[in-house]
Amino acid sequence: MVAPRYHDLIEDGRCYSCAYWARFVAEKTRDPWRHCVVEGVHYIIAMEGSFSGHHRGHGGRRFRLTDIRTNLAQETSDLWNNGRITSVMRAAMPDSHLMEELYRERV
Ligand SMILES: [Zn+2]
Repeated sequence: MVAPRYHDLIEDGRCYSCAYWARFVAEKTRDPWRHCVVEGVHYIIAMEGSFSGHHRGHGGRRFRLTDIRTNLAQETSDLWNNGRITSVMRAAMPDSHLMEELYRERV
């Protein structure tokens, strides 16, 4: 039984944190190339060119992400950090990529 004041933190039978991560698991199924996990941290690769200047993830810094399974690499200047995956959700969200920062763009 959950205290009523936490009721609105429960979503789909999960706590807020698990619901947050479960959304990324579901999105990754639909759109796998936008999602990556690097050393337990989840990132979204945004659509390149959607935003300009500082309105990009990591302020427009450019990264190369290499898929661990396929060894295919992609580069992005719009990478968003979604936080460190909780231990509860880690099995569903294993590391998927290696990440290296290429250079800092002038933005
Ligand atoms: Zn939970």
